Amino acid sequence: MRRPLVAGNWKMHGTCASIKQLLNELAEQDLPTSVDVAVFPGLIHLQAAIAQASQGSIVVGSQDCAVQLEEGAMTGETSALQLEDIGCSMVLVGHSERRQLQEETDSVICRKFIAAQAAGLTPVLCVGETLAEREAGLAVATVQKQVDAVLVELGADVLHNAVIAYEPVWAIGTGLTATPEQAQEIHAQIREHVAQYSAPIAQQVRILYGGSVKAANAAELFAQADIDGGLVGGASLNAKEFSAICRAAGN
Ligand code: PEP
Repeated sequence: MRRPLVAGNWKMHGTCASIKQLLNELAEQDLPTSVDVAVFPGLIHLQAAIAQASQGSIVVGSQDCAVQLEEGAMTGETSALQLEDIGCSMVLVGHSERRQLQEETDSVICRKFIAAQAAGLTPVLCVGETLAEREAGLAVATVQKQVDAVLVELGADVLHNAVIAYEPVWAIGTGLTATPEQAQEIHAQIREHVAQYSAPIAQQVRILYGGSVKAANAAELFAQADIDGGLVGGASLNAKEFSAICRAAGN
């Protein structure tokens, strides 16, 4: 039985005051104990969020880390070890916005994945097809290639301490959500693909769905056999909405 995880990606949102308020509001919500809950604030707010969240059960992760593990001459970068040092426990790697805006390649993402695990962080490997890829019938091939970018080099054992997030690019921040059937189909394909490396690990790895998840559609998505929770952007900035999504994952 896989324990559900709901993760809130706060992207480049918030101020010191609004982040504090959001965490205060989340602490007042009824979060299910059967669900792991994580939030990913911007880098500048990580330390304050970690200090505040340490009083409760919410885990804090980073939205990115450097490819290089050790400290060094990498202006503007933050290493996974530095993130671990301040109390982060997870990190997103390969989010489509970084693939697109920062032109991150599969090979860079694999190096970030390695750095994250070497520092003791749990990487959340984000994969997903663009609308053009879906329309060309390439959705499955695209996500398999993105998963292979890590598994071919590292093997399936690395998924013991990792999460996969399937996020169709066309559904991120657009209000368009994959139907539960569309999402389930790709999740099942990802799990089958991982099973070609290791059947037990395929059964154990958590695969989250992301792409305009909200309280109104979460229950239907999370009811699917291979969807183990969500990676939530916009809706995670509202404590009531986010906690309702967390409760949907617990049902
Ligand atoms: C995301 O950024 O990972 C995401 C899924 O965003 P949204 O929920 O806003 O589509």
